[in-house]
Amino acid sequence: MKSIALHWRILIGMALGVIVALIMSQIAWGPALITDYIKPFGTIFINGLKLIAVPLILASLIKGVSDLKDLSRLSQMGLRTILTYVFTTILAVSVGLMVVNIVAPGKQITEQTRNELVEAYGGEAAKKQEQAQQQIQAGPLQALVDLVPSNIVGAAANNGNMLQVIFFALFFGISLIMIPEASGAPVKAFFDGLNDVILKMIDLIMALAPYGVFALMAALVVEAPSADLFAALLWYALCVVIGLILLVLIYLLIIRFVIGRNPFDFLRGISPAQLLAFSTSSSAATLPVTMECVEEELGVRKEVASFVLPIGATINMDGTSLYQAVAAVFIAQAFGMDLDFATQMGIVATATLASIGSAAVPGAGMVMLIIVLAQAGIPEAGLALIFAVDRPLDMCRTVINVTGDAMVSLWVNKSQED
Ligand code: ASP
Repeated sequence: MKSIALHWRILIGMALGVIVALIMSQIAWGPALITDYIKPFGTIFINGLKLIAVPLILASLIKGVSDLKDLSRLSQMGLRTILTYVFTTILAVSVGLMVVNIVAPGKQITEQTRNELVEAYGGEAAKKQEQAQQQIQAGPLQALVDLVPSNIVGAAANNGNMLQVIFFALFFGISLIMIPEASGAPVKAFFDGLNDVILKMIDLIMALAPYGVFALMAALVVEAPSADLFAALLWYALCVVIGLILLVLIYLLIIRFVIGRNPFDFLRGISPAQLLAFSTSSSAATLPVTMECVEEELGVRKEVASFVLPIGATINMDGTSLYQAVAAVFIAQAFGMDLDFATQMGIVATATLASIGSAAVPGAGMVMLIIVLAQAGIPEAGLALIFAVDRPLDMCRTVINVTGDAMVSLWVNKSQED
């Protein structure tokens, strides 16, 4: 088994998971067996990945910053990273808007289907609305306040506080550069060693990835909602997927013509991270593997990868922002609203901000979508319309979130060389 490349083993695991779940769905006790005895192994696998996210960010970012030895390089890289992220997000929203306006999937939805969907998923949509309400109530500068933790142990206790951990690691790394080298040396040596240990942990967890994704896919298939609702939302789902594919094509062009690398090497190099993003729907859980792929397969320098990727996993979600734009316009179309140019420009702005604010976990993009809807004056009840297909689309958009981060790391790596 060892001789087969990891991405093939993961793909085989995914395919077997789907096949086994389809067979088991035919047997009365099959689905329960999968939920009770197979799904837990998927959960253990995701937990294993999440377990190393915080220590990985701490160790690799502190090591990365202290390796830089020079603050001006850090601020230069920081600025480049943030600007590139904003650029790719706006690009993603624009692609999404273009596709959804051309295909107009909302116009295909009959009033009857709309009512059926609202009835079936209204309750679940209300839960998401409650979560979003908490975000809306916060003041305009709350995001800035949230960046600075009041306690590092508290911040590290929750994987949702990734930005706070990043803030601490940057602050720590910068201070480490500023003290005399002799007193900083043991601290640096500690974090260098810690970083190696964590990379080994990732290797060990990844050896189990094919089995983990087998369990995840099997559980997803037996828990999927009915196929009829899927069919009603086919055009909408297609718009999201077409938009995501177009975006990847644009990435590949950038990789070829701006960064000057072979796009196929890029795809081959990050495929394990993409497959994992697909099966876990979480860029945070995928982060350790994304970092390993870009460093080892694409040759991105450690100091760049350890800075660009954790920040990207938290704030750069190109797939999510594209999906939010498509979903907002689809819901408006389904309710018979025509959105003018100014409102669509408003969607560009809010979807960009909302994707920055989305947590890197399953379903987060949908919570933040409510903010986009509210701003554009689109009925929030429309969330119920898209619920049935959200999970598969979440899987697809997470792949693009991770791919976008990897592409930007390659780009920043190149611009740091020039
Ligand atoms: N699941 C996505 C991620 O982790 C976020 C989302 O769009 O829901 O990247």
